Amino acid sequence: MDVLQLDVSGRPQARLSAQEAATLYASDAIAWTLGDPFIVLRGGIQQRTGLQSRLELHPIVAVRGAMPSRAWRTEPALSNPKLFARDRQVCAYCGKRFHLDELTREHIKPTSRGGGDTWMNCITACRGCNGLKGNRTLDELRWSLYYLPYIPSLHEDMILRGRRIVADQMEFLLASVPAHSRLRN
Ligand SMILES: [Zn+2]
Repeated sequence: MDVLQLDVSGRPQARLSAQEAATLYASDAIAWTLGDPFIVLRGGIQQRTGLQSRLELHPIVAVRGAMPSRAWRTEPALSNPKLFARDRQVCAYCGKRFHLDELTREHIKPTSRGGGDTWMNCITACRGCNGLKGNRTLDELRWSLYYLPYIPSLHEDMILRGRRIVADQMEFLLASVPAHSRLRN
């Protein structure tokens, strides 16, 4: 199970292993936490007290101080698994749902004609529809989209990554997912 790391303003930054999170606790880098402790780490016997050291990790931790520049990106990186998750594995052209291995990253405006490899120009399409569309535009084909593309927020991105998310983390992330997100339907 991972710990969700935020910056002090509450923006998601990373998912940490228990050991990585323990390092933050030990270096007093945690500004605040959310949720009840969900992992307990046990260490060695403390000489002074004779008791075993014990560290409780919270599911969500906000770290203080300056962040590496990577953390300040406002738009999550595009990947096929996240694109297919954003679009609920539904083809934007025929509106049917497919298995992951039948899906493709489809560029609404073809890259060969200047379309970007971006969240707003990419949509999930089945292999059949992608092949039919080729390098033509929607106008040329008189096709329309079954749903619209959008840029996921950083909070949504953490959910789209598809790793195991505990209830406290899901509650926190969903609270900041915009109303237009398909994760809300
Ligand atoms: Zn299709």
